[in-house]
Amino acid sequence: MKNHWPWANNPEQLNPFELQKLEQDGLDIIDEIIHIYSKKGFESIPEEKFALFKWAGVYQQRPKKDGYFMIRIRVPSGILNSRQVRVVAGLSREYGRGLIDVTTRQAIQYHWIRVENLPDIFRRLEEVGLYTFEACGDCPRNITGNPLAGIDPHELVDTRPIVAKLNEKLLLNREFSNLPRKYKISVSSSVYNPAHAQINDLSFTPALKMLDGKETVGFHVWVGGGLSNRPHLAQQLDLFVRPEQVVDVAVGVTKVFRDYGYRKKRHKARLKFLVADWGPEHFLEILKEYIGEYPSRGEDKIAGWNAGYFTGVHPQKQPGLNYVGLNIPLGRTSADEFDGLADLADRYGSGSLRTANTQNVILTDVPDDKVEDLLKEPLLKRLSPFPKTFEGYAVSCTGIEFCNLALTETKGFLKEVVNFLDQEIRLDEPIRIHINGCPNSCGQQQIADIGLMGGKAKTAQGMVEAYTISVGGHLYGQGKFNTQLKGRVTKEYVAPVLKEIILFYKRERKEGEK
Ligand code: SF4
Repeated sequence: MKNHWPWANNPEQLNPFELQKLEQDGLDIIDEIIHIYSKKGFESIPEEKFALFKWAGVYQQRPKKDGYFMIRIRVPSGILNSRQVRVVAGLSREYGRGLIDVTTRQAIQYHWIRVENLPDIFRRLEEVGLYTFEACGDCPRNITGNPLAGIDPHELVDTRPIVAKLNEKLLLNREFSNLPRKYKISVSSSVYNPAHAQINDLSFTPALKMLDGKETVGFHVWVGGGLSNRPHLAQQLDLFVRPEQVVDVAVGVTKVFRDYGYRKKRHKARLKFLVADWGPEHFLEILKEYIGEYPSRGEDKIAGWNAGYFTGVHPQKQPGLNYVGLNIPLGRTSADEFDGLADLADRYGSGSLRTANTQNVILTDVPDDKVEDLLKEPLLKRLSPFPKTFEGYAVSCTGIEFCNLALTETKGFLKEVVNFLDQEIRLDEPIRIHINGCPNSCGQQQIADIGLMGGKAKTAQGMVEAYTISVGGHLYGQGKFNTQLKGRVTKEYVAPVLKEIILFYKRERKEGEK
């Protein structure tokens, strides 16, 4: 057993998986997949190794016995180029039945992957600078951020180089590959908080401060946010960080989590539990032992919340250029559509495509005189820049189709629900509906206007799929999770019940009320 970590010689504070992680670092699994399991096949994989597959970005797909995997590709800040998009499309067509999901952390997921396919997938992704490694597991996950970084008229500083440096520092770094639990970071300098700062373990948001007599652009730091079935909103530290200091501070927070985070019970191991117990003041005291002294907080520059939506045509900070946000219904697209998006990115823009945490995409750098032609492209009929009120604002986790933890189907069901609502209701503002297939909240239901959480209910016909409904979540200001309504609604009544809730809101809302 390794003993250089502070917790390693304290086995009574470690759950069984922690003991396994001490025996073998999760990152070791990548070589084993490439050199052993991909050659010997699914049957050769010892049961206890599947938990470590996550460090390679690989999960077992439901049902486990069939030997298929889901894999997740990191897309830091959601920024891709057309060459990468074509490789992603090609691999999906070759190995993943042409299916592509965009996730709520700006990542990309494949399904139907065989262990034999993984070395080729890893290699071809790496050739274009993409990785699945540490997209899952107890390690720093994909770094989310402002998908408009570098082109956003509402950002204080271009965060692309910061995210790139931070990603380089953390990825495949064995100093950080054994954290108590998953660990999610966001970095954004947009004043509209597109990266959902309050629901990350660690976030950087825009701020200003007078330093040495000069107004200085930088960041405020939030820690301890996270959803799942025990959601917490992140809390701000009394700290101002200059752009060139983000990596040092992120490394410091990661070390605090690594060294002090709880490892006894997995359901209490996220950073949010440590922050809740310590409070932000004590957390900062300990953090300063790692990073030294920093200036205190400056002026907060978050002015609102765009909820991660960019659909439509909008001017960039570069005069004469535009970004065009497109809706991917429920985040599910295909290899053919991804190839089509790469072609559009090259023909109308600079070859850049961005993914949003609302499971949508953005084409960038489209000159004013090309916008009209772009809007006539056939691909934009389904991937619309002007989506319907409900379909355009629906977010869904993977659900029972592929996920082993799911209690209900999600994407197909929510599609039916929003199609019904779009037919039945005319409303002058979008309503964001999110769905989870279990309490784990990959669909981020707690921050939705209307959140649906899948479960089961006992009826005269036996156990059936049913949903709790929660209303009124948002991340304006400090943020507020939605409020769960009493009881559960069986599947067939969800659409009509939501119709009544929304019509009630339409009737009763006051001027300006959301
Ligand atoms: Fe699976 Fe639950 Fe996450 Fe949905 S919320 S993808 S059902 S773990």
